[in-house]
Amino acid sequence: MKRYGKRKRKTGIALLIALLLVFALLAGWAGFSWTDGNHLGQAQSLAQNEENERPWYLILVNKDHPIPDDYEVNLLELSNGEQVDERIYPDLQAMFDSARAEGIYPFVAAGYRTHERQQELLEEKITAYENEGNSRSEAEKLAKAWVAVPGTSEHELGISVDINADTQRCSSDAMYQWLAQHAWEYGFIYRYPQDKTQITGIINEPWHYRYVGKEAAKEINEKGICLEEYLSDEE
Ligand SMILES: [Zn+2]
Repeated sequence: MKRYGKRKRKTGIALLIALLLVFALLAGWAGFSWTDGNHLGQAQSLAQNEENERPWYLILVNKDHPIPDDYEVNLLELSNGEQVDERIYPDLQAMFDSARAEGIYPFVAAGYRTHERQQELLEEKITAYENEGNSRSEAEKLAKAWVAVPGTSEHELGISVDINADTQRCSSDAMYQWLAQHAWEYGFIYRYPQDKTQITGIINEPWHYRYVGKEAAKEINEKGICLEEYLSDEE
């Protein structure tokens, strides 16, 4: 009886060791996700830990938040020569496909812009206001309501697009309406609404859409808030 009992204990220990090994292997395979609760939480905390930044699609750029000097963009060229960040392309294309299926014909009139191009645009606008008889400082003030100061334009990120309608096939108003209703489904927001100009510092631009990812776009659309408000709630 004694020998039998001893053998049973040994078998028990061997089983325990085997179980521990299996557990260790599973834990390793799962990337230790049990410490973070889930994979999504792990991905988010990793993204936030890296220089304490938000995910790329939630970067805030406005007059008070210039683009970081080390910002990098991987561009993809559209068929009309405009360029966008390659990461927004699949959702942008899906949005345009859906619009076309409903008789709406959008195209990207302006995508990525270099810092130099933004500077040129601002200068052109200032000159136009000067030609209307405004002083240089007045012209600058007026121009800046229309054209973002270089370094503060979302177009320099490559994740914002000015969308125009192919007016041979549909009206601009019909397209703006379609975008206002559906863009959020593809992760894009109507970035500068009429009732938020005090916060955004930019006049109403029904053509300017900004990629923020589907989760944020849904919430921003549901709450009727702008990106600045969404991001300040988050903090
Ligand atoms: Zn724009």
